[in-house]
Amino acid sequence: MKGWIFGGEKQAQWTQKLYRKSFKFQNPLRQNYKHVKAMESLLDAPPETIHSVVVFAGDSEFKTPMPSNVKKQGAYIKYIRSFREEVLDDRQVKEAIERIQAGRLEPNRETHRKHVEHLKAKATLAAEKKCPKCGSDMVLRAAKKGTYAGKRFWGCSSFPKCRVMLNVT
Ligand SMILES: [Zn+2]
Repeated sequence: MKGWIFGGEKQAQWTQKLYRKSFKFQNPLRQNYKHVKAMESLLDAPPETIHSVVVFAGDSEFKTPMPSNVKKQGAYIKYIRSFREEVLDDRQVKEAIERIQAGRLEPNRETHRKHVEHLKAKATLAAEKKCPKCGSDMVLRAAKKGTYAGKRFWGCSSFPKCRVMLNVT
């Protein structure tokens, strides 16, 4: 992330300021909490053996005091090296790596493929569906009220100028 970063450990949302504009984003420590929990259960490891570290890549500047596990660029290396106590021996490290790889490669390829397919399908649908009356793109909408409330249909994107609607097949 570029720009100025404002955030606190307990805040739900952090702020990025860039070119006089402000953008909110989820507190990355909260996001990482789920990752840490996933690691704990995958590795069957006690919580004290797993540390959450957030690294900001790119040209950013912290404008508020940050927790010690939030770092910029290369500074995270020193932070990681500050942990001196051995919690896993060589054999356990090897096993942990194997578990992470086994747990991630297959589902990831599959979920990635599905994700890409899903995006392609959406793009194709939008690109191919043209209004038969005026030629504008058709967009997926849902009926807001009446007998068909919640039902999805194709509506002309130049609504209300053009009121063409098509059933979703
Ligand atoms: Zn139309």
